[in-house]
Amino acid sequence: MEDHVIPRRVVIIGGGFAGLFAVRALRRAPVAVTLVDRCAHHTFQPLLYQCASGILSSGQIAQPLRAILRRRENVRCLLATATDVDATERLVHVVLSDGSGLALPYDDLIVGVGVRQSYFGHDEFAEHAPGMKTLDDAHAVRRRLFRAFEMAEAVEDPKERAAWLSFALVGAGPTGVELAGQIREIARHTLDREFSSIDPGQARVLLFDGVDAVLASFGPVLSRRAQRTLESLGVEVHLGAIATEVDERGLTVRRQGGESQRYDARTVLWTAGVEAPPLAGALARATGAKQDRAGRILVEPDLTIAGHPEIRVVGDLMNLNGLPGLAEVAMQSGAYAGRHIRHRVEGRKPSTRPFRYLDLGSAAYISRGRAVVKRGRLHVSGVVGWLIWLFIHIVFLTGFRSRAGAMMSWAVVFASGSRRERAFASGEAHAVDVPEAAAPSPRSA
Ligand SMILES: Cc1cc2nc3c(=O)[nH]c(=O)nc-3n(C[C@H](O)[C@H](O)[C@H](O)COP(=O)(O)OP(=O)(O)OC[C@H]3O[C@@H](n4cnc5c(N)ncnc54)[C@H](O)[C@@H]3O)c2cc1C
Repeated sequence: MEDHVIPRRVVIIGGGFAGLFAVRALRRAPVAVTLVDRCAHHTFQPLLYQCASGILSSGQIAQPLRAILRRRENVRCLLATATDVDATERLVHVVLSDGSGLALPYDDLIVGVGVRQSYFGHDEFAEHAPGMKTLDDAHAVRRRLFRAFEMAEAVEDPKERAAWLSFALVGAGPTGVELAGQIREIARHTLDREFSSIDPGQARVLLFDGVDAVLASFGPVLSRRAQRTLESLGVEVHLGAIATEVDERGLTVRRQGGESQRYDARTVLWTAGVEAPPLAGALARATGAKQDRAGRILVEPDLTIAGHPEIRVVGDLMNLNGLPGLAEVAMQSGAYAGRHIRHRVEGRKPSTRPFRYLDLGSAAYISRGRAVVKRGRLHVSGVVGWLIWLFIHIVFLTGFRSRAGAMMSWAVVFASGSRRERAFASGEAHAVDVPEAAAPSPRSA
């Protein structure tokens, strides 16, 4: 088939960190870019838990893609879900929001659709234990958190009340640790004087993980410090404990010794494990690409798929020597893929340099004034870690207005504990029809 038309058509699937950095690298290139995303906004995933816990609003962590890209004249945004790739005809099949289909021709394809929550073969848990990957998830978690305190206030049975005041989190990675800290802070500092029948400070927060360390990827020193900090906040940490059952009343865990234990907790949140979305399988079938156990696509050192130099996989969806699923990896890989295409269309000699990830470190927030940061051999925790965390997030938040708004919200919550973003939708499952008022009986004369 014809190699390409002019201007070269670049389709980028996914407007996450990887997709946006690929767009940015192509900004002055003579190419026609189509950015396809199933959402109209870019979500700053590392702060989803702050939206869920009422610190930040949706608008502070999600920016319209069109607004971010309004000055990019060579970019067209398309709100659509990519469902398949035809690698022979070089087409991406997408479904628009009204259900109709479209085929987008490409000369170069960049796939950066990220990963989704994995329930390790127990997808039935999802109904009772929402994950934390999208803005919808953050809203669902916010509703569950604040509704649980309302229910605890309303019920009279002490056992029921205790179950509503028990919050279980499965997965002690950064998201689980951050959420656990937030729930204790909400209980102790945000809601402390707002209820009459319950003491929110009595809320139990249980954090479970199958491995024997919290924040295992941060190494043993920071892991121990993070666990101590969590415990000082009142979080009950249960390591070597795997969730085997989750239902609307709580969860059962199996410990390393083999014994099982049941916990009544009306709020269970899932912060463990990721897997590739279905598009990865479609891409693998279309190209013969190999997938790892989580379904991520194994890529060549230049991020292309073997035998398909026109298709690149970037961000969380790619597996290159086991690089971690971090925002920095996504940004750098997206930028690398975009740069390669630009150099090619500009007629420069194609670089043979493989993609190299420059590790800028990682950070996890635990509570007000406490965070852990790891960069190479540097391990920082406590207030200094928290200041570094703050700096990193202010720098990387997309858009001036989100940045300024987020700083104001942080100042309020850090100074007073109060959270402004606590509104939540009532949720269809709990909507109750009020019976129409009985017709007034005719007055007796
Ligand atoms: C709760 C949470 C906390 C995190 N904290 C940190 C942190 O502190 N530090 C850090 O470095 N990293 C953190 N990460 C990881 C980081 O956010 C990811 O590594 C990064 O977002 C990956 O970028 P990406 O572009 O590959 O994918 P994503 O950001 O997931 O973007 C994928 C995009 O593709 C779109 N999409 C998906 N499927 C389709 C489809 N079929 N068709 C069209 N569009 C599609 C999605 O709508 C989305 O916009 C966190 C992640 C989460 C979920």
